[in-house]
Amino acid sequence: MEVERKYALIKAKIEEACKNVNRNTEEIKVVAVTKYVSTQRAKEALEAGIEDFGENRDDGLIEKWEVLGNQPVWHFIGTLQTRKVRNVIDKVSYIHSLDRLSLAKEIDKRTDRRIKCFVQVNVSGEESKHGLDAEKVIPFIKELEQHKNILVVGLMTMAPHTKDEQVLRSCFRRLKSIQEEIKNLNLEYAPCDELSMGMSNDYIIAIEEGATFIRIGTALVGEEIKEA
Ligand SMILES: *Cc1c(COP(=O)(O)O)cnc(C)c1O
Repeated sequence: MEVERKYALIKAKIEEACKNVNRNTEEIKVVAVTKYVSTQRAKEALEAGIEDFGENRDDGLIEKWEVLGNQPVWHFIGTLQTRKVRNVIDKVSYIHSLDRLSLAKEIDKRTDRRIKCFVQVNVSGEESKHGLDAEKVIPFIKELEQHKNILVVGLMTMAPHTKDEQVLRSCFRRLKSIQEEIKNLNLEYAPCDELSMGMSNDYIIAIEEGATFIRIGTALVGEEIKEA
């Protein structure tokens, strides 16, 4: 019950972070990133009471979905190739990586329910990172209106790989400020109430800066498969 112990530890840290900035712990959803682990380990996470799972590849998601079904809420968190959309669309509740119109169009075409999407933003401007540049986010969201099955629930980012707290903090703050601009547009299809930010190494800072979905792999379920 290794996962159970780690989950308890993370919950305690979330509580502390929330206390520091006067937030309610109920605002934070933990998404267990199961991409590095077996279905068996994912099952343990489910038994430990974790309700939301994230995968970054269609085959990884399908493999676990075939065993665990819709008991966890599934999040697709990685770069999604357009041709893979049809493999995952009926299995996922959330897509955290909407970053282009061709993907929006394919999602819209392959489903008849509204898919909760995060628009992925490359806040740091690092070339290796996926997502839209900050200044392109609002024009992009405006173009999504015609895609009736897309609901923009929020924005997602991956912070740079650094221990520099100021760099991380300013990245998360920037995402929050873009979110506020979008909320002010009052778009029915883009309420944008959520912020998906924070991973094993930076989730405390992300919570302090307003995260509502944190995506934790290594620190929660560990790493059994070293690839992905
Ligand atoms: C792998 C991954 C995570 C989790 O990373 P950890 O550092 O193991 O917590 C979160 N978000 C995305 C998009 C990922 O690909």
